[in-house]
Amino acid sequence: MAHKLPELPYSSDALAPHVSAETLSFHHGKHHAAYVNKLNAALEGTGLENMPIEELVASMDKVPANKRTAIFNNGAQHFNHSFYWQCMSPNGGGEPTGALARAIDQTFGGFEKFREQFKAESLNHFASGWGWLVKNASGQLEIISTHDADTPLAHGKTPLLTADVWEHAYYIDYRNDRGSYLDHFFQVVNWDFVARNFE
Ligand code: FE
Repeated sequence: MAHKLPELPYSSDALAPHVSAETLSFHHGKHHAAYVNKLNAALEGTGLENMPIEELVASMDKVPANKRTAIFNNGAQHFNHSFYWQCMSPNGGGEPTGALARAIDQTFGGFEKFREQFKAESLNHFASGWGWLVKNASGQLEIISTHDADTPLAHGKTPLLTADVWEHAYYIDYRNDRGSYLDHFFQVVNWDFVARNFE
């Protein structure tokens, strides 16, 4: 059973003006779709076609060496994008509540400090990649960034929230202004999804 491009959890114009319909339709319909197609092509004949994507990207030792780069890059991009769509919602924005809010306060000294640190990590990340809030193996929150396709799942960390900082995520709407894109991203963060990942 080949991997499939998931539907967006909202219509392509639902996040405007923060993320435009044009950005979403290209990002989901062209970029993410291409990762899924290339992943399926690379998996053909490996016997790993049915492994769930979360498991696959953390199981590179089971992938034939000559296919590892293609399967990891396209597989991790498939996972990261599927996760990223869910991190946003037309009803998003604001601040988290409950246990997640308490953990953010304890770890970062308040929501505003967390937001600044997440933005700085994502803004200063060199070239293409992803900004993340993750839970590490000891259950503590961390802000990290990963290069290119890399994903926290490959490092034993649980992803809670991500911002795609590849240029294709923001160039149509914000040109080279990654900081503006990140400010707008915070207007649509789906904190209910982040809280479910935390629990
Ligand atoms: Fe992307």
